[in-house]
Amino acid sequence: MHDLVIRNGMIVDGTGAPAFAGDISIDGGRIVGVGGKAGSAHREIDAPGMLVTPGWVDIHTHYDGQVAWDPYLSPSSWHGVTTLVMGNCGVGFAPVRPGQEDFLISIMDGVEDIPTETLKAGIKFEWESFGEYLDALSRMKRVLDVGAHVPHCAVRTYVMGERGAANEPATADDIAQIATIVRDGVKAGALGVSTSRTLLHRTRDKAYVPGTFAAVDEMLGLGRALGEAGGGVFEMVTDVAGEDADLDWVARLSAETGCRISLAAVVNRRSGMRMHEIFEFIRRQNANGSRIFAQVAARPAASLMSLQSSLHPFSTHRTYRQLMAGLSLEERVARMRDPNVRAQILSDQPAVREEQTLAMVSQFEHHFPLGDPPDYEPTREMSILERAKCAGKTPQELTYDTLLERDGRGIIYMPLAFKDYSFEALRPVLTDSATILSLSDGGAHCGVICDAGMPTYLLTHWVRDRRRGARIPLEVAVKRQTRDTAELYGLRDRGVLAAGMKADLNLIDFDNLRLHSPEMVFDLPAGGRRFVQRVDGYKCTVVSGEVTYENGEPTGAMPGKIVRHS
Ligand SMILES: [Zn+2]
Repeated sequence: MHDLVIRNGMIVDGTGAPAFAGDISIDGGRIVGVGGKAGSAHREIDAPGMLVTPGWVDIHTHYDGQVAWDPYLSPSSWHGVTTLVMGNCGVGFAPVRPGQEDFLISIMDGVEDIPTETLKAGIKFEWESFGEYLDALSRMKRVLDVGAHVPHCAVRTYVMGERGAANEPATADDIAQIATIVRDGVKAGALGVSTSRTLLHRTRDKAYVPGTFAAVDEMLGLGRALGEAGGGVFEMVTDVAGEDADLDWVARLSAETGCRISLAAVVNRRSGMRMHEIFEFIRRQNANGSRIFAQVAARPAASLMSLQSSLHPFSTHRTYRQLMAGLSLEERVARMRDPNVRAQILSDQPAVREEQTLAMVSQFEHHFPLGDPPDYEPTREMSILERAKCAGKTPQELTYDTLLERDGRGIIYMPLAFKDYSFEALRPVLTDSATILSLSDGGAHCGVICDAGMPTYLLTHWVRDRRRGARIPLEVAVKRQTRDTAELYGLRDRGVLAAGMKADLNLIDFDNLRLHSPEMVFDLPAGGRRFVQRVDGYKCTVVSGEVTYENGEPTGAMPGKIVRHS
């Protein structure tokens, strides 16, 4: 008698092998049989016509705060994620000295747009060392497994105090202490170390985050400590310097220590980096013994602009700010429907000097109304600019009316890096051996981004729905976000449906898998807001053999563990 049997599913096992029909049997939280006909079980789930896949392993999230108060870690858990990795991009909450908590919060707020009041209300800081942080999290129940990096910002602040926060150079003694903390963190179970070298990442007070300009000896100190402690992933977001200055030491570090490098390269004018150059560099280095992977997302990062977002095309207008100060959404909507107010707001201009922000609020050729279901790969004709032309309106007028749709909950989608109005160039990148699927940013950018549903999107758009170009085979897509991501982190007990593996899996009604439009909710501690995205079609999610979600509803099972480096 098995604990659980899933009958007659279409099994996509995560290895990339062709899908096949059959049963899956589970005992004691492990898979014991895949394919064929399984014996009887205490619980049997009939799954004819359903996909059965490994649970998604999402390696780029920022749930470092939310993990302390939310056992569901939504929206990721709604989307079939059964293991997530946090502590990316150098930001996180351990180690921490008493008195430094607020500074770490200001980094998280500034970099990841998670409200300070929420983090203050939600995190108890019952730890000082990284190991104590993992222990504190281990004492809590949750629906899925969580792993973490040791975040460089926190380590530098811990060791160097004000000097670290102010980005002063680390001394040899500082670097030795930083290395000790990284080694201890990995021994306690960290899956790697992470760091930020991008000028985009600032604290709430607009200061560059600790470590942004760290010299190569400090970076090598971090990486070598990781290697000495048994290895793991060295995760880095970067745009600071050109290819040679920033990446040569990365290749050396990987070849020397055996550590895997996971690179989130911010491609922009400042860095002079071009994506294809980075890939060529990675291929060259990996042929010589490095193990470097470029993080890529199933769609480019995008801002969601609405009357509830951090930013929208009128939010910087002086008139808008004056007229709307202190008003609730309902009050703003009522006022915006007044033709005089409309005329006043539309006659004003954005009051921003910062080039990037100005572009974000005024590039109407790259603004798109986002419907339900959302279309994330729209044509040029669907842009606010083109639609306004057809409708005989100005783009500002159409924007205004779009924001007022659905009682002021209309959303304007602004993908970054969408110059040619197509994801065609992204398609080969998503399956390239130099890349790793990443960047859902679950838990972060609460007021302007909602990409935690990216694993679902890979299936709905890239495997099933895309009409504007080639799609990605189902088996490949599944492998990319199960075995490949698990393997990067050395998580060899998951990511594949095979006997002996951890029983983490999804049962998916693929024909009816559907993303809803993102929506703003105010359910974070202290009433903080965040975008979430709901989904239909996940029939069941199973973690360690226990059904955690059924037809989109949590069952109450909390089998999630802190995943520790072994
Ligand atoms: Zn990140």
